[in-house]
Amino acid sequence: MIAGINATHNPDKKSWIASANLPDADFPLQNLPFGRFRRVTSDKSPRIGVAIGDQILDLAACAEQGLLEAAGGIVVRACQDTSINALMRTGSQAASSLRSSLHDLLVEDSTRQAAVSRNLLGIAETELFVPSKIGGYTDFYASIHHATNVGRLFRPDNPLLPNYKYVPIAYHGRSSSIVVSGTPVVRPSGQQRSGENDLRFAPSRRLDYELEAGLYIGQGNALGTPIPITESAQHIFGFSLVNDWSARDIQSWEYQPLGPFLGKNFGTTVSPWIVTSEALAPFRVAANPRPAGDPAPLPYLFAEEDQQHGALNIELEVLIASEKMRQQGIAPHRLSCVNFNTMYWTPAQMVTHHASNGCNLEPGDLLASGTVSGPEPGSLGSLLEITKGGRDPFTVPSGETRTFLEDGDEVILRGSCSAPGFRRIGFGECRGVILPARV
Ligand code: CA
Repeated sequence: MIAGINATHNPDKKSWIASANLPDADFPLQNLPFGRFRRVTSDKSPRIGVAIGDQILDLAACAEQGLLEAAGGIVVRACQDTSINALMRTGSQAASSLRSSLHDLLVEDSTRQAAVSRNLLGIAETELFVPSKIGGYTDFYASIHHATNVGRLFRPDNPLLPNYKYVPIAYHGRSSSIVVSGTPVVRPSGQQRSGENDLRFAPSRRLDYELEAGLYIGQGNALGTPIPITESAQHIFGFSLVNDWSARDIQSWEYQPLGPFLGKNFGTTVSPWIVTSEALAPFRVAANPRPAGDPAPLPYLFAEEDQQHGALNIELEVLIASEKMRQQGIAPHRLSCVNFNTMYWTPAQMVTHHASNGCNLEPGDLLASGTVSGPEPGSLGSLLEITKGGRDPFTVPSGETRTFLEDGDEVILRGSCSAPGFRRIGFGECRGVILPARV
């Protein structure tokens, strides 16, 4: 069952926290995303919080004060953990009970305002962390537009490999170098080959970003036990933004025969807030129709419900701000805008395929979508595509030109969901500045 629409999605309800009611607020009452935080002056373990307007609600404090009892004892205990994984493990029903309780505490006519307000602190006063303990990180390749654009650079006559329309392609990434938004990324060094006799170890000169969305696993599956496509949605706790930083020169020399390695694992940035599957229920849309002549998904990847409602209408954008632009007070420059509903595979298909051989997914695991690119020129999710492999430079508002990222460049990902009859919700930001290589 895909989480449905309920009272927590009512667009007419406001919160007693005024900043949550601003029209462009990413975190209105209808969102309630989860993250981990601590006060900037504190050296204590991070705590679980929920974003509301420009505030964070401290869930452990609420649990200790008996404010979450309606959500049940297992949830109350999980809210007092230092990681979100315990809460993810409780499953979609429990997460839904918690959402309902939080909605009741934060809605404008709540009778618990005085007690709840003691557990709020400004997001600006906190340090945010990678939201879950990510045991396994997998990166898919689910945009056929991205796969075609990249394939065309290497194989103009045959851009898509024959397995693409059958297999949701992915590779296992590295969890240890996943960092939260705002963490600087050091330019990687590595082997690069420019020509027959030009092989060097040097700082990457073709450093890129990849605009992606990622899903976090809630309840996992036992080793050896696949997840049927009809049950996949229940295993998805929520979504965030992901920047899969990529060193194209390192990647192109190393990737055959076993795939991405050092061109990818020097850093992956995630946004701090997990927007839950339930919060995204109003923004579910039909899977992107396959062009005539494409094969239907194999039966284990096909469910009518998933085809009708399994894709997500998330408007994603990527912006760049060079060091010079920031010094001159120039606003970040938008490079592209693309909808997540253009993907070839749905999130449920990615989950089911991942577990189809019995591989066990665990609470807190991150499955990223792969670069999200649409069919139009303004909807490309990487510089590799925008500059056609570095051949077409572009100019930013400071007058500087770029093919790939320079030191000091900041990349900003944003995402939001809108639909008629529902309150707009946002994902917050996923930011990172490039620091010079430490050769
Ligand atoms: Ca990627």
